[in-house]
Amino acid sequence: MYEALTLVADGMNNYGAYSANNGFTGTPYLGFGIDYYYILLVIPAMIIALIAQARVKSAYNKYSKIANSRGLSGAQAARMILDDHGLTNVPINMVQGTLSDHFNPKDNTVNLSPDVYSGTSIASIGIAAHEVGHAIQHAEHYFPNKVRSAIIPITNFGSQISMILIILGLVLSQTLWLAYIGVALYSTVTIFQLVTLPVEFNASKRAMNHIKAIGIANDEDAKGVRKVLTAAAMTYVAALITALASFLRILLIVRGSSNRRR
Ligand SMILES: [Zn+2]
Repeated sequence: MYEALTLVADGMNNYGAYSANNGFTGTPYLGFGIDYYYILLVIPAMIIALIAQARVKSAYNKYSKIANSRGLSGAQAARMILDDHGLTNVPINMVQGTLSDHFNPKDNTVNLSPDVYSGTSIASIGIAAHEVGHAIQHAEHYFPNKVRSAIIPITNFGSQISMILIILGLVLSQTLWLAYIGVALYSTVTIFQLVTLPVEFNASKRAMNHIKAIGIANDEDAKGVRKVLTAAAMTYVAALITALASFLRILLIVRGSSNRRR
């Protein structure tokens, strides 16, 4: 996964690299206070995101306490899969944190949190295999991954500048077009979350295939891995829903303002 909170697989804080949640600097706060759109769109989306995060933590807590059948650590499993793909040159590092695991395409490294790196649980091999899935995507120039990397700077720029344009556009006279440009730039956040989905789902699919193909996991282990990775994938779906809700709210606010001015 890519950056922090979300999870599990990708360190969300690693922005620019594959950051977990996302790679962009964050959603700017829209200074419009609480409005109906916020209550009807954004709050429900945030509740969905909280539920998704709680489910990941719960799956992780459960399966990080159950040993995998071969007693392999996450680092060992990752090494086996990498080597099996001829990626003997990709190092596996230990990084601080919990669920801070991520692949860094800049230096081509797999970075695992201490519990995943050294742990011999079902969760450890699942998360390690997922991060290796990103390393293999990178090595194979997996197309959605390239698109995602390419739009990170656009998303960062768009999310930073959009609110300024929207507020200026709404405050000044005859400048609604500026607000609409801001809305268009803000949509890059949603597009980014959308492009993240195939990348994450594919990394987890690769992880499941690899752990079975080279005998890292038996059927029982694989069931647990699937639960952890599925829960993690849902946090990316929730992130998309949240981004879409924020986008719709802002669009509706700007449209409402343009209707009033007519
Ligand atoms: Zn991932």
